[in-house]
Amino acid sequence: MNLNKRQVDKFMAEAEKLCQLEGTQLTELRRMILERLIKAPGPVKAYDLIDSLRVKGRRITPSSVYRSLEFFIQIGLVHRVNALNAFVVCNDHGSHHNPVILVCPDCQATTEINDEGLYTSIFNHMGAQAFFGKDGSVEIRGLCKKCAKAETKSNAKAKTS
Ligand SMILES: [Zn+2]
Ligand SMILES: [Zn+2]
Repeated sequence: MNLNKRQVDKFMAEAEKLCQLEGTQLTELRRMILERLIKAPGPVKAYDLIDSLRVKGRRITPSSVYRSLEFFIQIGLVHRVNALNAFVVCNDHGSHHNPVILVCPDCQATTEINDEGLYTSIFNHMGAQAFFGKDGSVEIRGLCKKCAKAETKSNAKAKTS
């Protein structure tokens, strides 16, 4: 996510508020995790996240990081991207919605569609086919604008040579 400092501060303030509503706190570990996810250009894999947190010589257990991520998912600040086995901050944070996530497998970019009707409709169709939505996530794979452009270019090249 490309956020300027003011937006990052705002995000953290909202995160703090959400934690308080849950009767808990934005602990230092939780804060560090959120900051890394916010500053990352795209979804971050759990082990990369854990590695980046360890740099400072802190004792950080993977299970504590996973627990924090689970908590953020629950309160709607973070989404899990199963196709990439990674985590991304919600770009409509705090609204506690069920996103449809578009995933580009080439560059691992993701984007969210916040349309509860679309999400519900997909789940209703799944139910009608007796398909059980395992973890509540809906992900669609497709090339992002940048990768689609690159692909068209290389296709054009292949044709002319
Ligand atoms: Zn979201
Ligand atoms: Zn892409």
